[in-house]
Amino acid sequence: MKIPSRILFTAAVFAATPLHAQNAIADAPVTEAELHADIAALSDDAMLGRLPGTAGETLAAQYIARAFAAAGFVGGANASGGWYQPVPLVTLNYVDDLTLVRDRAGRLVEGLHIINRAPAGGRVELDDVPLIFVGHGVGADGSVTGDVRGKIAIMVTDDRPGEHPLSADQRRAALAAAGAVGIWSVPPARFPFAAIQRQYRGGRMQLAARILPVRVEGVIDRPTLDRLLGLSGRNATSLLSQLAAEDFAAVDLVTRADVQVTSLRRDFNSYNVIARRPGRHRDAGAVLITGHWDHLGECRPAGAEDRICNGAVDNASGIATMIAVARRLGQGAPMDRDVVLIATTAEEQGLLGAYHYAAHPTVPLNKITIALNIDTVAIAQRGAPMAIVGRGANPYDVEIDGVARALGRAVDSDLDANAFIRRQDGWALGAAGVPSIMAGGSFSDMAPLETYLEGPYHAPDDELTDAVPLGGAADDGDLHIALARHFANLATHPASNSAE
Ligand SMILES: [Zn+2]
Repeated sequence: MKIPSRILFTAAVFAATPLHAQNAIADAPVTEAELHADIAALSDDAMLGRLPGTAGETLAAQYIARAFAAAGFVGGANASGGWYQPVPLVTLNYVDDLTLVRDRAGRLVEGLHIINRAPAGGRVELDDVPLIFVGHGVGADGSVTGDVRGKIAIMVTDDRPGEHPLSADQRRAALAAAGAVGIWSVPPARFPFAAIQRQYRGGRMQLAARILPVRVEGVIDRPTLDRLLGLSGRNATSLLSQLAAEDFAAVDLVTRADVQVTSLRRDFNSYNVIARRPGRHRDAGAVLITGHWDHLGECRPAGAEDRICNGAVDNASGIATMIAVARRLGQGAPMDRDVVLIATTAEEQGLLGAYHYAAHPTVPLNKITIALNIDTVAIAQRGAPMAIVGRGANPYDVEIDGVARALGRAVDSDLDANAFIRRQDGWALGAAGVPSIMAGGSFSDMAPLETYLEGPYHAPDDELTDAVPLGGAADDGDLHIALARHFANLATHPASNSAE
């Protein structure tokens, strides 16, 4: 594959810049021109849309590591200075499945919507398996709601905030550990069954560590749940209203299932690119800056005029901004704390690289002062106010607002930006107890953001054109340089972590 020469250009220029000029860079504002160069390279068709596990990943990861190195950072993935943290992933591709459900009299129940896959891959055949409805799967006391051994457990997955203290993944893991042979999830009605079928057939990526040790895993829709409960003489609506009750007990169904399913399992490693600038004080902890490098790859069928989802705004713009930030933070005197840059993989597949990092951190989680995420920054014009995704859910709003105002930046202090809190990598670190925020201009005025989300977002049109504003991204670059310096120095931020 031919790599366009401009992809190699920017990093090479900075590597060749003499030291006195680099110190000048350390104080220079982020320019739209440098962001343009890096976004153009990362969203070039040569990167194939940066899908994890493809040749596009290799090009993107190498480009980012080279840029971080040229900026003055060292590899931070491991003790020997490597740049790449392996993230074991799995895709399960649908081959076929057939599930037959029989009622108490052995008659076939028609018209059910069930889709299955085999987490271990290959062919699985199950005959005459009992079904059990387990509600949320795990009760208020933390134990599994019924005896699921040798059965297929049917679990409601709704996990809006406050719905259940454990995530659906954690509850499925508990059911598998309790001996369920299979798990069927019932998603909320807002997820159409047809879309879930497409996702199953498309081979969704998952963290290998999260693949459940069950024979079959599937999804049924709400009308199918109603039918199955009805055949057992139970009313779904009244049962669902009791899920949170302390005395909720699982319901063994009279129906039984035969399942035949074939799945194609592919195991592969993708990579988080991790860089580090060591601080002066070994024990003072670290400031993290994260942004996802991945996107959706070739997202249109063969033969389509433009197949590549280039992800210029989502999130080549965030990586370009991280690189610009690195060029300033990599020069001059070191700060007190380490600065760690993490270009994460598989954010688009469900924050997978960020969840992997939270489980395998290169800095102990309680030594991370703050994690700053940068995603989808090329939305706002220059001068846009700063909003915080995560405002009110971290200890540092006042300090962050102060840093922004000291730069002359207006602060948007309402909580509208929190609508995106679960849709960005910071969520995975926040769930692990790390103070995590995403600050920037994209999430203050919702109008241009919505225009983007309803337009080129996750489509082949997310490309770098003259219409993509880079002024707000440059502002956000300057903001992150100031935030990193503030939180990485003991004079401006003495406490290492609110948890200590
Ligand atoms: Zn995205």
